[in-house]
Amino acid sequence: MIRNYLRALYRMLYPLLYSRSQFKLFLGVTLRDIDLRMHALASATDYFSGFVRPVPVTAPFGHSMLVVAPHQDDETIGCGGALALQVKSGSAASVLLLTDGADGCEDLGMTRQAMMELRNEESRRAAEVIHMEPPVFLGLPSLAAHFDEAVTRVRNEILRRTADAVFIPFVLDGHPDHRTANFILAEALKDIEWNVRVFQYEVWGLCVPNVVLVIDDVMDAKIAMLEQFVFANSALDYTNSTKGLNMFHSRMLGAGTCRYAERFFEVPREEYIDLVTRVRAAAAASAAAERRG
Ligand SMILES: [Zn+2]
Repeated sequence: MIRNYLRALYRMLYPLLYSRSQFKLFLGVTLRDIDLRMHALASATDYFSGFVRPVPVTAPFGHSMLVVAPHQDDETIGCGGALALQVKSGSAASVLLLTDGADGCEDLGMTRQAMMELRNEESRRAAEVIHMEPPVFLGLPSLAAHFDEAVTRVRNEILRRTADAVFIPFVLDGHPDHRTANFILAEALKDIEWNVRVFQYEVWGLCVPNVVLVIDDVMDAKIAMLEQFVFANSALDYTNSTKGLNMFHSRMLGAGTCRYAERFFEVPREEYIDLVTRVRAAAAASAAAERRG
């Protein structure tokens, strides 16, 4: 098993190490992140496909589905199809945006406020495409600095909507805000008394997929949603890359049955809390080891 793990890691790392520019990038990863990065890389390999076989799921995701998104566009990239299908089924769908999305505003000569408003508007327009209510925006400038406040707000939103399913980025996603968002959700779910289903979606990396959702019927709508993110798309073409990712995932199902799919790692509430607690402990241990030098 260890040998397979190493072989899988080697297969992932070899192309990175082979290219000079990528090698420099790889060295640029801080030590604190490296354990989590290793896990994330391993989860993206075929190593898991031998024993994790994704099962098809269909909308609706209970009577009320809530998407927790760290940044404006995560909700559409990761689960725009699931949102569109939920709305189409006549069940409740809502989005909670955690941050102001304004990191890097100085480099663009913008104020935090201006960048936040611009990005909020794009998420609002994406919601309009599928006739969904506007997202709720917390506008937090930093998740780490407003951790407790974020926990309370997420918990209140789950309670207010009696959410049956909560969507959140995959806990091993490469973006630190995406991991912190999971730490926040796990805390919030500790006080929820019903069995919320947690679906972890893909934004910056792949998840370990155990469920797959066919989104053929709403792919046009998802693309129209993605096109609302003019600002985000001006840096990276998320519309094109997300379309490609969803097309790639059609291989999860038999030929002729699916053209586009979203994938998730779904776990029930208690197992989710346990999983996130482990990841959080691993992250803390790595940080402590780095401090010790
Ligand atoms: Zn994000």
